[in-house]
Amino acid sequence: MHYEGTLYRPPSEAGSLIFQVTIGCARNTCTFCSMYKDKRFRIRPMDEIERDIWEAAARYGNQVRRIFLADGDALILPTDQLLRILDVLQNAFPAAERVTAYGAPADVLGKSDLALTALRGAGLSMIYMGMESGSDEVLRRVHKGVSAEEIAAAGKRLKAAGMALSLTMIAGLGGKTLWQEHAVASARVVSKIRPDYLGALTLMLEPGAPLLKDVQSGAFAMLSPEEDLEEMALFLQNVTSPGTVFRGNHASNYLNLRGTLDADIPKMLDAIQTVQNNQNFKPEWLRGL
Ligand code: SF4
Repeated sequence: MHYEGTLYRPPSEAGSLIFQVTIGCARNTCTFCSMYKDKRFRIRPMDEIERDIWEAAARYGNQVRRIFLADGDALILPTDQLLRILDVLQNAFPAAERVTAYGAPADVLGKSDLALTALRGAGLSMIYMGMESGSDEVLRRVHKGVSAEEIAAAGKRLKAAGMALSLTMIAGLGGKTLWQEHAVASARVVSKIRPDYLGALTLMLEPGAPLLKDVQSGAFAMLSPEEDLEEMALFLQNVTSPGTVFRGNHASNYLNLRGTLDADIPKMLDAIQTVQNNQNFKPEWLRGL
């Protein structure tokens, strides 16, 4: 099997078999992200992908239950090619229960409803989509390349096609100047989409992330742990998304939160308050991406 460069996947895909159907990220503009800055984007040729799949099938065959398509936005592939890949996967791994991938909002909007439904029917069961923020101003500043309205539209279309949706937001992305807007607007977009899963991680900048230069120059001020949790509390006070499984237990977070919206919001707000009162945030040395 062939892997190129560093491989990234969502935490919940830790046990999945991963195939790189693209290399890198087609956009690569987000200033908080360093994941694919060293890769030039390309779609891998179909014969290479098929070779990888059959090689893995010979080795793991019926043991494979979950498959993740990498890299940054596999949904950018032409629908025909994705359908072909899903068909080969189904034949190679008959016991597989799900195939998932990252999908950028623009890629979702670039596909027709018919195409999304066909992909769901062929086995693509869940998409991980980065919302990052529901604030247009924050999205503009971090060069996300889409508006909050487009993100909401993409999320709703994935759900209408029958796919599960795992949405990600980044706490602290508005910095000290836009934290309130970031919290309230993100709550608004999540409430519109009502994703199946919502993952919250906290802004951490690795070498290679363009935003790091703004932090070093003083143009962007990161939130303190206390401010970060204040922002999270504001988000939780404003969101309405019954049934969404909220995972705020990423290694980057100052406090692990987990629950189902909206039922567990009071419990999570209490947990935030307790940590604020005791000032016992996760120490920096325990945080990671
Ligand atoms: S956050 Fe996603 S879309 Fe933005 S550069 Fe990173 S991989 Fe690409």
